Amino acid sequence: MTVEAARRIPVMLPALGEEEALAAADAVRSGWVAQGPRVAAFEAAFAASVGAAHGVAVSSCTTALHLALVAVGVEPGDEVIVPSLSFIATANAVRYVGARPVFADVDVATGNVTVATLDAARTPRTRAIIAVHQGGVPAEVSALRTAADRWGVSLIEDAACAAGSMVNGGPVGAGALLAAWSFHPRKLLTTGEGGMITTDNADWAARLRRLREHGMNVSAADRHASTQPILEAYLETGYNYRMTDIQAAIGLVQLAKLSDIVAQRRSLAARYHELMADVPGALAVRDPAHGRTNFQTFWVLLSDEFGVGRDETLAALAAAGVSARRGIMASHLEPAYANVDPAPLPVTERITRDSLVLPLHHALTEDDQDHIVGTLRALARR
Ligand SMILES: *Cc1c(COP(=O)(O)O)cnc(C)c1O
Repeated sequence: MTVEAARRIPVMLPALGEEEALAAADAVRSGWVAQGPRVAAFEAAFAASVGAAHGVAVSSCTTALHLALVAVGVEPGDEVIVPSLSFIATANAVRYVGARPVFADVDVATGNVTVATLDAARTPRTRAIIAVHQGGVPAEVSALRTAADRWGVSLIEDAACAAGSMVNGGPVGAGALLAAWSFHPRKLLTTGEGGMITTDNADWAARLRRLREHGMNVSAADRHASTQPILEAYLETGYNYRMTDIQAAIGLVQLAKLSDIVAQRRSLAARYHELMADVPGALAVRDPAHGRTNFQTFWVLLSDEFGVGRDETLAALAAAGVSARRGIMASHLEPAYANVDPAPLPVTERITRDSLVLPLHHALTEDDQDHIVGTLRALARR
């Protein structure tokens, strides 16, 4: 076997180290492994890092989106506008509350919904919008928030991919009605599985804490800590969407590393941009005018000028030992949404058909990048 053939460059690697392992072990040794003091500390630290007053940790971004929709009062029969171009959990959460997802198209440069694409999907039944900060690229929230206020609908932000991204001069999440975050290993900050809802609204935060814990009026941690017997009440139908203290212990370590992780990704992305300058028809994701991406997902949109189709490009990269991936999925093209007949979504369909995700992670070397872009360059010149 040649050295070239043995090369394997993963598309993504979680930046986990010995510190995270020790923090998890500490939580186990403490004897408190379910939601407790470490979850509370992680909530406070994470909320502060994104400029929000409250953080409510949950089991995933999917459950965070579900509870956010409950908090704003979305009900069966309502419509919620979501981009089709997103991980399918964004649309699924709408179905969890019995509402109907209505798909909006996106901007070709950012992959995000805009005021115009949302307006085209609006009807008298529209109750809420979930705007996604796709792949970490911030949506233009100042414009979206103004429009949502004018239309009288609630704007929820799916910030699953956007920890460490900036928009309008502040962190993504600052000023959001409700933002939902993911700590899945595919994202930049991971707790294995896990999520968070951030908000400035204290009443919603209190209700979200109840909803994630069976609707109880007192948390299990508070009950445990009390010297007096506390009889809890169950105020409404809740869920078990809790995060564990083992996860939160890992999250606290990851959060402290986040700005370094983002800085390193941004410099690797800048180097990709330089290397790709002479690859025709391969348009890599960049910072939008209104913010800075964390480059969680380094996607490249191929045009006719590139000369080779996306799937063939993925196969050529795989043969060269590079594990790239298809670009962001389009939910409306999946069997689960076959019964939805959306208005035309030409940009969504183009991006999902013609884009791919290149490897970007903390262990990626300059040599790896040269090899990856060299493979693309050779394909484009063929
Ligand atoms: C990953 C992702 C989710 C789901 O996050 P989980 O924590 O795995 O539930 C939701 N929305 C978007 C945009 C995502 O990328």
